[in-house]
Amino acid sequence: MLLTFLGGVGTVTGSKTLVEPESAGGSPNGHRLLIDCGLFQGPREVRTRNWDAFPIDPVSIDAIVLTHAHLDHCGYLPALVRDGFSGPVHCSPNTAALVPIILRDSARLQEEDTAWARKKGFSRHAQPKPLYDIDDAERAIALLTPTEFGRDFTPVPDLSVRLDVGGHILGSSVVTVHETSRDRTTVFSGDLGRGNHPLLSPPTSPAGADAIVIESTYGDRAHGEFDQEIDEMAAVITRTLKRGGTVVIPAFAVDRTEVLLVALRRLQEQQRIPVSPIHVDSPMALAALEVYLDAIRDGDPEIQTAVLAEGVAALDLPNLHEATTPEQSMALDRGGARIIVSASGMGTGGRVTHHLKALLPDRDNCVLLVGFQAVGTPGRMLLDGAHEIKIHGQYVPVRAEIAEIEAFSVHADAGELLDWLSQCQPPPTQVFINHGEPESAEALAERIRLDLDIAVDVPELGERVRV
Ligand SMILES: [Zn+2]
Repeated sequence: MLLTFLGGVGTVTGSKTLVEPESAGGSPNGHRLLIDCGLFQGPREVRTRNWDAFPIDPVSIDAIVLTHAHLDHCGYLPALVRDGFSGPVHCSPNTAALVPIILRDSARLQEEDTAWARKKGFSRHAQPKPLYDIDDAERAIALLTPTEFGRDFTPVPDLSVRLDVGGHILGSSVVTVHETSRDRTTVFSGDLGRGNHPLLSPPTSPAGADAIVIESTYGDRAHGEFDQEIDEMAAVITRTLKRGGTVVIPAFAVDRTEVLLVALRRLQEQQRIPVSPIHVDSPMALAALEVYLDAIRDGDPEIQTAVLAEGVAALDLPNLHEATTPEQSMALDRGGARIIVSASGMGTGGRVTHHLKALLPDRDNCVLLVGFQAVGTPGRMLLDGAHEIKIHGQYVPVRAEIAEIEAFSVHADAGELLDWLSQCQPPPTQVFINHGEPESAEALAERIRLDLDIAVDVPELGERVRV
């Protein structure tokens, strides 16, 4: 089979890999499967790729398989559908429940940001347009085809595909693509969990494969000691609340918010942080929370047995407040001892940008970064010690405390990625590294060559390889 890397190369966003099966004779059989259909996010030069013409005719793609519901893996789908793609979009049932939440929010955000840019006149374009609108998102949602874990299906002739638990977020999948005509197998890690998610079961090991396409978000790093990180988190929250400040936690709406709520509940129960109002200010996070609660209620096998035993109480906080309306959201900007969990996770858009604008100038407040912050995003600039950041075309001074906790990373670190790869027996003959910034991808490549002695390639954008 031929693999063409159309995104998620040299960056952690825009994941898209084209798979073209070959017949027994070794020539392409004319069918095309796309693994993931992610949005490019982050700095302008990366984001503008979303506006480039798609490198192949979307009409020529037969089907799509999604590894999971994060925007950088499914967020380009409405644009592809608008441009002619009309095949099935296979994914796990929980991914199919989460993708509509993500795509509707993405379309709405783009429409809102466009309207805002038009009103304030800070766009470079005289008539800014959204990349896609809600109608495009609804057409994409209609194509979602839920597929159970562990069951083989044939999305295109000569390819048999299976999804297994990925342990990264609810619904996330490791995707095994078997080319029946030539008996070749490629496993796509998707985004890989760490095996210590507080709610989800650990990722499935890759079964024997000829090639593995593996992510490398944290390919050059080791995560800190979990307990130590949680101690730090308790300390930073406690000192901020005690001085009467607000803790703003930018968090991906799907999964990160749920993981944070579990952690905050435990810290509160253990009396390691003061009890103060906790606001979830993201309609998308609240909708995603419902999908997680449903999975717990349904005894979903993706959820750990200990959590299933506890039931929905695992996510129940008596001092939790849901900010559903824009007025409720704006009221939080008056400050005071409270915790605000709001999307987006890297401060690139959504309600959290308004909170950052209002709360960053006051040194009593704290911004707690709990997720990966891509280069060029406001979150990364804060992490790198910026004295001011630009929000909605305006410079905002940074006086609030900035703290980072990596404990909640739902991405495997370098050692965990290596462990997962080494579980593939017999080992693959080829490894392709995607979904990482160049230093991470290269560092992981080096480790795989040295520690596992496997041929490894870090493909470039548009590169085509044969398995
Ligand atoms: Zn992800």
